[in-house]
Amino acid sequence: MPEQRPSKPTRKPRSSKPTRKQGPSKPDLRRNKRSSKPDLRRNKRSSKPDLRGISLDELKSFVLKLDQPAYRAGQIADWVFKRGVRSFDEMTNLSKDLRELLSRKSFLSCAKVVETHTSQVDGTQKLLLAYGRTRIEAVLLKDDERITGCVSTQVGCKFACSFCATGAMGFKRNLTAGEIVEQMIALREAAAPDRLGNVVFMGMGEPFDNYDNVMRAIRIANAEWGLGIGARRMTVSTAGHVPGIRKLAGEGLQIHLAVSLNAPVQGLRATLMPIADRYSLTQLLGAIEQYSERTGRRATLEYVLLKDFNDSPEMAAALAEIARRLLCKVNIICYNETADSVFEPPTDQIVESFLAEVRKRCSTVVRRVSRGSDIAAGCGQLCVPRDGT
Ligand code: SF4
Repeated sequence: MPEQRPSKPTRKPRSSKPTRKQGPSKPDLRRNKRSSKPDLRRNKRSSKPDLRGISLDELKSFVLKLDQPAYRAGQIADWVFKRGVRSFDEMTNLSKDLRELLSRKSFLSCAKVVETHTSQVDGTQKLLLAYGRTRIEAVLLKDDERITGCVSTQVGCKFACSFCATGAMGFKRNLTAGEIVEQMIALREAAAPDRLGNVVFMGMGEPFDNYDNVMRAIRIANAEWGLGIGARRMTVSTAGHVPGIRKLAGEGLQIHLAVSLNAPVQGLRATLMPIADRYSLTQLLGAIEQYSERTGRRATLEYVLLKDFNDSPEMAAALAEIARRLLCKVNIICYNETADSVFEPPTDQIVESFLAEVRKRCSTVVRRVSRGSDIAAGCGQLCVPRDGT
């Protein structure tokens, strides 16, 4: 199929109003030099372990170093993960002396819920969480069958996908494992008395760009002594971070992989998603294939439909061909407009014909209803413009 090259989408610069006709310069993935540097924000407390972000074995070593019996680790894990306490004083089955010792020698990542927005359309809740001056958003999605938490992995994002509000923020810093786990605890509390059944890593940030912290948080979420969330109930979504996909294939985790594809041809994909300049479509499809072969699991391709950019029958056919070849499931999502949006969602009729075109060649395609778009909690809408970090 000859590759279509629509004119470049224009991300509105924060300082001036762009028009559709002005092509943007491509976002510079190297622009944030902080990304390759150590996380300086944690320096003040880096000598102390964050008990929200360590494993039971690490907790055992830690309590042994404090001359405490190993069984204390289980008690502490129970308070930290199962009960989600936010101060050592709440650990009432520990002596006062031990609580004071813990507060001197360690800390707990704690988030304050600054704002909660609830969708009047579908009940989706969006939480604005603050870790000190750092602010991020997390979302609780509810449908008849399940409650799903959508968590962020970074403050902002360096990958600058042109349809994504988080990408427009730029990159501030990685979230620590403890901060990611704390988000799940905050979402679990927001869901109560219902159970937080599923977690998707589809909030702010590219999870594989913060690989180690995300994997650590997943293992804590999955552990019996941790949050006890089944691995098959967790999904990591990537914009196409090829080394991350390859690494995940070797983790032995039963979590789901979703890949935000959005264009089935290299030129258009690189226009919409600058990460494709670093990891080409060919490399990405190779990594997905390798992942499936190695894990025996099918990846899901996410495809956000953008009017007049990626919604043609030719694109549908090319998408279906990729999905059929790689045995992937496909989720079609209609674009959610954002404040600086230069894109529009296609009409319902176009969405349905696109779906029909894909279905002709590949049966594993569904239209995913975007939830929470009235409170800017939908796919691509998360953004904290006034973050203090
Ligand atoms: S879609 Fe994901 S990778 Fe792309 S800019 Fe948004 S948060 Fe970053």
